[in-house]
Amino acid sequence: MADTITLENLYERAVQRLDDAGIKSARLDARLILMKSLNISHTNFITEIKVLSFSAVNLRVAQENLDKRCEGMPVSRIFNEREFWGLPFYINEHCLDPRPDTETLIEAVVTAFASKRREALRFVDFGVGSGCILLSLLREFPNAYGVAVDISYEALKVTQKNADLLGVADRINFVCSDWDSALRVRGEDQFDVVVSNPPYIESQMIPKLEREVIHFDPMLALDGGISGLNPYKILVPKLKFLLKSSGRAFFEIGKGQESDVQRLVEKTDATLNGLYRDIAGIIRVVDISCGDK
Ligand code: GLN
Repeated sequence: MADTITLENLYERAVQRLDDAGIKSARLDARLILMKSLNISHTNFITEIKVLSFSAVNLRVAQENLDKRCEGMPVSRIFNEREFWGLPFYINEHCLDPRPDTETLIEAVVTAFASKRREALRFVDFGVGSGCILLSLLREFPNAYGVAVDISYEALKVTQKNADLLGVADRINFVCSDWDSALRVRGEDQFDVVVSNPPYIESQMIPKLEREVIHFDPMLALDGGISGLNPYKILVPKLKFLLKSSGRAFFEIGKGQESDVQRLVEKTDATLNGLYRDIAGIIRVVDISCGDK
């Protein structure tokens, strides 16, 4: 057995390697990388850790994936998948890696529209990317219909793939466009819910982002201009055309952007209904309506 290694030894070495490379979540990432690379289930990883052993040949893929993580590539990017709202999403270099913070937005919409869960609501998502927001909502609202807007055609291909995988492709349409010219809505086409997790990082902060973000998330999904507020300046004034009178918009915002976004909302005679905090206690989502127009 000289040329084999047990899972337990392999795991300890992998944790050490990631730790030495400065990866904060070394234990979790080592486990995920080994499970995926060696095709081991969650349960087997725990119950068989002392029993399973591998030859050098089987380990090649695992070692290559550990190398990628040491170079800063997030686990989700190595395997092109990320769980969001309990659902599996395919991701690639054309879309933002879904963050748990963004689940705050889903929670906010689900809570606000709890009494309309079975209605044929109309949703639109600006900068849909992987589709994690819009598709999670379509799963929560089984009779709703969604419009996916993105300037990146490649990103929309990712949304489409996820819509197929999640079984909601028959309730979604795609618009490849910048936001300003995306939709020319008439009265009957207005939306119940507008959502967006737009690029909101201030341009000058981009170089300071973690390598997991700056090297792997598309710049188009991060850079919100000098103030970080460019997307809200485009989207907020459009709400009075986009929303039904009972409609609401839910936007993700960056840390500390709530008062600036509130000022933009007040300037357009819209109403800020509420703010929602993420699991870290940071105000992450704004809830806006336009009322009677
Ligand atoms: N939440 C992401 C980050 O801080 C940014 C996403 C965005 O700009 N919408 O890394």
